[in-house]
Amino acid sequence: MSEFELAGRRPTWADVDLDALASNFRAVRERVGAGVKVMGVVKADAYGHGARECALRLADEGAEWFGVASPEEGFALRGAGVTQPVLSFGGFWQGQAEDCLRQSIVPVVYRLDMAEALDAAARAAGKVADVHVKIDTGMGRLGVRYDEAAEFAERLRAFEHVRVDGVMTHFAAADEPRHDCFTEEQLKRFREAVAAFREKGHRPTYEHMANSAATFAHTETHGQMVRPGGVLYGLWRDVLPPLADTPRLRPVMSLRSRIVLLKRVHVGETLGYGCTFEAAREMLVATVPAGYADGYARSLSNRGRVIVRGGFASVVGRVSMDLTLLDVTDLRGVAVGERVTLLGADGALTVPAEDIARTVGTLSYEITCGISARVPRRHLP
Ligand SMILES: *Cc1c(COP(=O)(O)O)cnc(C)c1O
Repeated sequence: MSEFELAGRRPTWADVDLDALASNFRAVRERVGAGVKVMGVVKADAYGHGARECALRLADEGAEWFGVASPEEGFALRGAGVTQPVLSFGGFWQGQAEDCLRQSIVPVVYRLDMAEALDAAARAAGKVADVHVKIDTGMGRLGVRYDEAAEFAERLRAFEHVRVDGVMTHFAAADEPRHDCFTEEQLKRFREAVAAFREKGHRPTYEHMANSAATFAHTETHGQMVRPGGVLYGLWRDVLPPLADTPRLRPVMSLRSRIVLLKRVHVGETLGYGCTFEAAREMLVATVPAGYADGYARSLSNRGRVIVRGGFASVVGRVSMDLTLLDVTDLRGVAVGERVTLLGADGALTVPAEDIARTVGTLSYEITCGISARVPRRHLP
């Protein structure tokens, strides 16, 4: 979408810098070396960045696998022409076993009846279905309990049309040094579970467990493959623990809009819903056509800051559904049509998603995932 194409629609959009994505991928590759495969995690529309475009670019850069949340997300990647193996972290749901087989989406399996359904579908299709078995080593979420892994491995042997291609687990606190003991305990439980699978005759190609934090902070967890998500999108300040050698990662998404109205506001006048802001001086206030329905959180009311003309401007008054107000009194030469960056980079300045997340009280992932569908993504270059 060029500037030209943006004419004819509301000037609020998200730039997605695919060169930055590629650069972040190379930082991961550098960290893990050539011998460890990289699964690019592109679930939730690549954390809001656009799964198709991101996956295709990551594939060009050499990503060997892709990770998604559901078969539907995997089918979308196949539709976009992604040919690499795709792992569905959430497994699959009733009626999806056949489509997973047909479209080569490898499901994570964590219940026996899932293996049973796949086995039946694979038998009927004259195929063998690859699965990755998830072990719950302490997250308490999806996965076979680590102390029940041996029994699960034994019972899986009954399904001749199912092959365990991978065994995996997920860390609960790889980003928190104070929980390093727990991370090590998870690793130990995982190794024992994998040993049990091998003992029962399974021959997994992959043992994998590392998310972004473990990829950079716990190299002993790399196994045969790592599964970074956040760092690929340049999200790291609230994702990685303090490191001796923090990788140089670039933000990928920038949320932009344009000033549609400038007005004088006099001392004592209030702005926006609830009259939460009162002018203490003569002000120049800009209206921008982006609001919480676009994913610019309402809790940024009177707290957010954005980039305009090489400087920062504060959000004044409540962020409303479709509109936000900015104090541009101190910025020189601001005009209607001026570009505003609400999130991400503009020239030398950035508003990191991590900063917005801290203000709002959440994780940067929720900020980029929350940029809503009504915001068109412009993939660059
Ligand atoms: C989301 C997810 C990842 C990636 O986590 P990041 O913190 O974004 O690196 C890896 N593995 C699983 C199972 C996930 O659900």
